[in-house]
Amino acid sequence: PLRASRETDRKPVSVSFEFFPPKTEEMEKTLWASIARLAPLSPAFVSVTYGAGGSTRERTHATVERIARETDLAPAAHLTCVAASRAEIDEVVRSYKEAGVKHIVALRGDPVSGVGTRYEPHPDGYAYACDLVAGIKRIGDFEVSVSAYPEKHPESASLDADIDYLKAKVDAGATRAITQFFFENDVYFRYLDKVRAKGIDIPIVPGILPVTNFKQASNFATRTGASVPAWLLKRFEGLDDDPETRKLIAAAVAAEQVTDLVDRGVTDIHFYTLNRADLVYAICHLLGLRPHAGATVPQAVAV
Ligand code: FAD
Repeated sequence: PLRASRETDRKPVSVSFEFFPPKTEEMEKTLWASIARLAPLSPAFVSVTYGAGGSTRERTHATVERIARETDLAPAAHLTCVAASRAEIDEVVRSYKEAGVKHIVALRGDPVSGVGTRYEPHPDGYAYACDLVAGIKRIGDFEVSVSAYPEKHPESASLDADIDYLKAKVDAGATRAITQFFFENDVYFRYLDKVRAKGIDIPIVPGILPVTNFKQASNFATRTGASVPAWLLKRFEGLDDDPETRKLIAAAVAAEQVTDLVDRGVTDIHFYTLNRADLVYAICHLLGLRPHAGATVPQAVAV
């Protein structure tokens, strides 16, 4: 059969996982249980987000440091330009350097008053992600990843302008871009063609949001400018009060999306895990990833 012959031809897939810093003890337990479950899949790196307005500076730092200390995973710390001076941000970068963290995901961040309001750079701060990338590179030889928007960033005048900003981030030293999530793979491939046509040759890693909570995903999509295709809406139709079926549909939808990406040549995939392991673990299994026995997982939650 077609599918089986394609699977034997596939190149190995490299995955990375994104987490957010936990707010409560309960959430902390969920996070570390998820890290423990996903760590044996040997991700290329695991990243920890930075709360809007810099609200999780300490928690992001603590989570990243704990990953560095207690696991053999390569942590990447997200960092944004908002609500902080260059000196404050440089301090955060230096502390990561001292802790042995070698990878930063450099972002501008959303306006302090929320998505949709006007963005004003901090008067003494880094204005855009490209400025932050350059600042990080001045402090140390970090690996720097940045964002990319297959459906353009909501504030950009055009996709073309958006890709020029991506080019500025690459020129400043970024070596990987991770995309905003999308549901239509053709959108990603059309974007990739445009990016390559502008001479950008770094990996543009698709960011995948496995949708278990369709309402939440639609809200995310509205905020980020990602479109929700009618067929996706239809697949979750009538399941608001049926989490069991929703979970199965979610697995089918995500599996279809990632296997199509891989069949069309994608070799790296970044998962927005929302700190949940089950669905992501299953999709990785489908992609051929198997746990590696010697992985170091956090002791307190080893499973
Ligand atoms: P930039 O690449 O700087 O671009 C954003 C917009 O600014 C552009 O559309 C353009 O309008 C304008 N712009 C850029 N450069 C210039 C320039 N030189 N001159 C004039 N205008 C310019 N947010 C968080 O708060 N914390 C996170 O941890 C986080 N992680 C993310 C991870 C990924 C993979 C992605 C895709 C997004 C993430 N975000 C995060 C969201 C991100 O902060 C927002 O989308 C934000 O609005 C833009 O940040 P950016 O780094 O993409 O910005």
